[in-house]
Amino acid sequence: MFVRDTLYIGGKHEKPATSAVIEVRSPFSEELVGRVPEAREADVDRAVATARTAFDSGPWPHSAPTERADVLDRLLAALQKRAADIASTITTEMGCPIGFSHAGQVFATNMVLDYFAKLTRTFAFEEPCAAFIGSAVVRMEPVGVVAAIVPWNVPLFTAMLKLAPALAAGCTIVLKPAPETPLDAYLLADALDEAGVPKGVVSILPAGREVGAYLVTHPGVDKVSFTGSTAAGRLIAAACGERLRRVTLELGGKSAAIVCDDANLDAVIPQLVGAGTMNNGQACVAQTRVLFPRHRYAEGVDALAAAVAKLRVGDPSEMTTEIGPLVAERQRERVLGYVDKGKAEGARCVVGGGRPAQFARGWFVEPTLFADVDNRMTIAREEIFGPVLVAIPYDDDPDAVRIANDSEYGLSGSVWTADPARGLGIARSVRTGTYNVNTFMLAMAGPFGGTKSSGIGRELGPEGLRAYMESKTICFAPGSEPA
Ligand code: NAD
Repeated sequence: MFVRDTLYIGGKHEKPATSAVIEVRSPFSEELVGRVPEAREADVDRAVATARTAFDSGPWPHSAPTERADVLDRLLAALQKRAADIASTITTEMGCPIGFSHAGQVFATNMVLDYFAKLTRTFAFEEPCAAFIGSAVVRMEPVGVVAAIVPWNVPLFTAMLKLAPALAAGCTIVLKPAPETPLDAYLLADALDEAGVPKGVVSILPAGREVGAYLVTHPGVDKVSFTGSTAAGRLIAAACGERLRRVTLELGGKSAAIVCDDANLDAVIPQLVGAGTMNNGQACVAQTRVLFPRHRYAEGVDALAAAVAKLRVGDPSEMTTEIGPLVAERQRERVLGYVDKGKAEGARCVVGGGRPAQFARGWFVEPTLFADVDNRMTIAREEIFGPVLVAIPYDDDPDAVRIANDSEYGLSGSVWTADPARGLGIARSVRTGTYNVNTFMLAMAGPFGGTKSSGIGRELGPEGLRAYMESKTICFAPGSEPA
């Protein structure tokens, strides 16, 4: 049982303002596995005030980039030391297979941190720019107090996509983890302590959406960085728009994997399964629409069905498990609701479609594949966020691109082909923020984000650092330039 009774406010472990608690249940055993304080509005006031003071009067925003890079390096070392503990904590709280936890939750987080530590040492925080008369420099300054709000599916990774560049820029941060996954955030707090992040700079407040909404509109906040559902993203965008508050939104997806007619199915199918069901299908970049050429559709569906049926469903703490339970009972019911809708709208459920019979407990949904899916069906349009794939036939490459683009979302996608030039052509035609040719891994350190309803702004890459800065252009009259 993971129990803490303090909130991390400005680097201090403080008593919460109220006695409200968050109880965390294991998605596998349904038993209580953690209890931590639930932050309330008064805690937000305290954390924002602390962050405000640390930004307005503290040395942190004016520290040398090398000093901030050193802090990030020390944070990386502290997280690496705790890697096994963090991986098992995330698996315990949200149910992803432990193998995914090591790779997708912890290693991926550390790669992000390492990237920003290195970028901070080389980034041009001040550089000359063109001037009509005299000369000028552009200075990149930290945007201020950042409210960072993250979901439960990749809690530490999404937190680090915000925390690392915000720290690199010299911002101060109030991080709000989701109520489903508050436990790993305490291990992050321990690592921040060990790394010697200056007092006042980071607060961590696990809480629900109401407190999140309070944080978004708090007058002491300069920038909101949000990862989560498109529905919440719209509300946050509206609240920020009214206040002219800077905002980055990383939202949902319904990505398409285009299997070309020249693809070697034996090699591709295992990767398609991974692309669609990683993290128990609870991934924003999951490639859940699988597009097969019509003349190879039956062959593709059969091969995919065989692979989906073989997925090992079980205890997420076992290394051999490929599919664990969903994060919450509510999420299981939501996913099963989509399965019912798929059947009602005329799609053919080829594999799965229910709860696995072998588990009396745990919020499991069987890995599921629908065939005979039309892209207009609900299961092809809405983000299901569970291990549910849909197979859609297409006529030729332009038709595949049309179907891929016929979506409210534009986060990610992939193409599978023996011809790299064809792959690149398709990659150039699909309207998404990232795209993959013959892979589904987020192998890049370049900008990550979405088009259309998948969000606004980018994380990672130099763009991900600039998102936490404002430019200031300083002009010098001829003869006034400093030596
Ligand atoms: P959610 O929007 O319900 O909640 C996400 C976070 O926002 C939680 O911390 C929640 O407490 C908070 N929140 C909810 N409503 C809020 C509001 N009005 N104001 C302020 N805070 C609010 O999403 P979820 O169900 O926890 O996460 C799953 C969603 O996240 C999926 O849609 C998924 O695609 C998306 N996601 C996107 C990315 C990306 O990078 N694009 C990455 C991971 C997850």
